[in-house]
Amino acid sequence: MSTRASPDHRGKGCPLCGAPASGRHGPFCGQGCRDRDLLNWLGEGYRAAGPPVADIPESGLDSEA
Ligand SMILES: [Zn+2]
Repeated sequence: MSTRASPDHRGKGCPLCGAPASGRHGPFCGQGCRDRDLLNWLGEGYRAAGPPVADIPESGLDSEA
């Protein structure tokens, strides 16, 4: 039996370390990766919550009106 699915198949394995996921911890292999992912997520959210970077080039005012 060839169970060679595409490498981009989600839902199998811990998204952090790739270890077999544990049903009790969702897609993660264990509480450790689960907490880590949560912290990462919160960290990114905290960062994204800051003021947006005002570095947007205004190169869209070249339309012929
Ligand atoms: Zn893991």
